[in-house]
Amino acid sequence: MTTSQPVSQLGSHEVFNQPEPQRAVDLWGQDQALREHAIAAGGRGDQLVRVGAKWGGETLRVAAEDARRDLPRLKMFDRSGRRVDEVEFHPGYHAVMQAGLEAGYTSSAWDGQAGGQATHAALVYYMAQLEPGVACPLTMTYAAVPALRHQPELAEVWTPRLTSGVYDPSSTPIATKRGATLGMAMTEKQGGSDVRANTTKASRDSEAYRLNGHKWFCSAPMCDGFLTLAKAEGGLTCFLVPRWLDGERNGIHIQRLKDKLGNKANASSEIEYHNALAYRIGEEGAGVRAIIEMVHHTRLDTVLAPAGLMRAALQEAHWWVSSRSAFQKRLIDQPMMRSVLADLAVDTEAALSVGMFLASAFDRDDAESRALARIGVALAKYLNNKRCIGVIAEAMEMLGGMGYVEETPMPMLYREAPLNGIWEGSGNVICLDVLRALVKEPQAGDALMNVLLSMTGSDARYDAALKAHLARWPGLPMEAEARWFVESLAVLLTAASLMKTAPSEVAEGYVSSRVARDRGAFPGAVGGMDVDAIIARLG
Ligand SMILES: Cc1cc2nc3c(=O)[nH]c(=O)nc-3n(C[C@H](O)[C@H](O)[C@H](O)COP(=O)(O)OP(=O)(O)OC[C@H]3O[C@@H](n4cnc5c(N)ncnc54)[C@H](O)[C@@H]3O)c2cc1C
Repeated sequence: MTTSQPVSQLGSHEVFNQPEPQRAVDLWGQDQALREHAIAAGGRGDQLVRVGAKWGGETLRVAAEDARRDLPRLKMFDRSGRRVDEVEFHPGYHAVMQAGLEAGYTSSAWDGQAGGQATHAALVYYMAQLEPGVACPLTMTYAAVPALRHQPELAEVWTPRLTSGVYDPSSTPIATKRGATLGMAMTEKQGGSDVRANTTKASRDSEAYRLNGHKWFCSAPMCDGFLTLAKAEGGLTCFLVPRWLDGERNGIHIQRLKDKLGNKANASSEIEYHNALAYRIGEEGAGVRAIIEMVHHTRLDTVLAPAGLMRAALQEAHWWVSSRSAFQKRLIDQPMMRSVLADLAVDTEAALSVGMFLASAFDRDDAESRALARIGVALAKYLNNKRCIGVIAEAMEMLGGMGYVEETPMPMLYREAPLNGIWEGSGNVICLDVLRALVKEPQAGDALMNVLLSMTGSDARYDAALKAHLARWPGLPMEAEARWFVESLAVLLTAASLMKTAPSEVAEGYVSSRVARDRGAFPGAVGGMDVDAIIARLG
């Protein structure tokens, strides 16, 4: 007799007290915090309900696992030794890319309907739970749209395809495609943070340019084009480099794929430009100004992605401790385990809350909101990604030895945890960026302070922490102290966002443990939290 049921009665022992794997998770229906924060931010509930059920389902989950297990392969040459520079993916990769594009990951923010950025932000949070590597080309495609506005004739051709919601992986010229994706290639070997050290050269070729040089990271080389930086006569300039010209490949050679810690489904590569045709975006010498539009938007995604990673780890850990027992009691009924779970839940909801709060600022088109988004996204990128690593490590430990085993999602999540803190401005660089924003764009500091001050009077511990921050740093800190300064502001901003939208048990839990710092150094070492109420929100 054949049966799909696994056998628990083995010759030597019976298998019990091992939680079954979760086949499907309704990413919207099972996430009360998401429902509340996304709706408060103006996100589109109908769209998110549909996508949450589909992306949490077994079919896409299996496709995502396949995409990570069966790694992308570089095909540099054809049989005859001619260059092709293609990357081959498992069909699971294409299935998840298609799901992302069709759900509106790259288009919702730009379709002119209300709540587009908030909806996009929730989709990023979902995708981090499903397949974080695929999020890379999707995020870059979404974020390229505002940068292209600097060059309307390019935007006219590319933007409708980037936002069509159609996945067309064919390797053909852009004119023949209904859907397209865009990558980014800025980082070079000698310096990624300091892009002014770029050595790639751009020389004029009638209306366009020719690029020669290398890029040390180009994370999605199968995209239809790349926003890149190169030195033209007038200085560092932003360019769009299409992968195909009319009927022939552009001079972009993929050197190799990187062997990375995680983000396995994503074919991060090293490339060289060999007389590659490129179109200028913005003025010569204004490259940073043009590409910063893209960076600003990718940073929003680097705020939401760690929230999604933490959510996936928390969800799995909650499931596990609800079903597993030790010392004659379910783990979730053990007092110390409850403290750990509640503590991780607070960090996870805090990361989501500040992310959705900022996404709603991206959605508003007034100067104050733009200024808040500018500085807020840097603060939250720093804090959310620093928290993410510790939260996932602790959630892994909640599964005991099984948390270290690849059949659970924990190792994958752990490998993903540091990434969003590194790209688009590593920790120190982000802190320097916050200082720069406060000097060069005083309205950003004003907008931030308006939010922080608007929440005074709600909780004396918050008021005291804000007062202490302002007393310690009446102006800018010394550069060496910038991490502390940024952490302090980011925690206050997160507390403000929670006090605005989260229930009191979560906001107070955050204020007592993160703002007033009534706690030890590690997760679960907390007092004064309403642990039962916080855990009840997990479903
Ligand atoms: C998986 C992955 C995918 C990526 N994809 C892409 C991509 O598609 N396109 C792309 O262009 N890039 C990509 N990157 C590259 C990434 O953006 C860079 O690695 C990052 O910007 C840092 O640059 P770097 O590696 O040269 O490090 P460096 O610039 O050398 O920085 C090293 C360290 O020094 C710190 N530092 C730098 N300056 C200062 C300072 N003044 N004071 C104090 N500390 C400082 C940084 O914070 C960092 O911790 C990717 C990276 C990864 C890991």
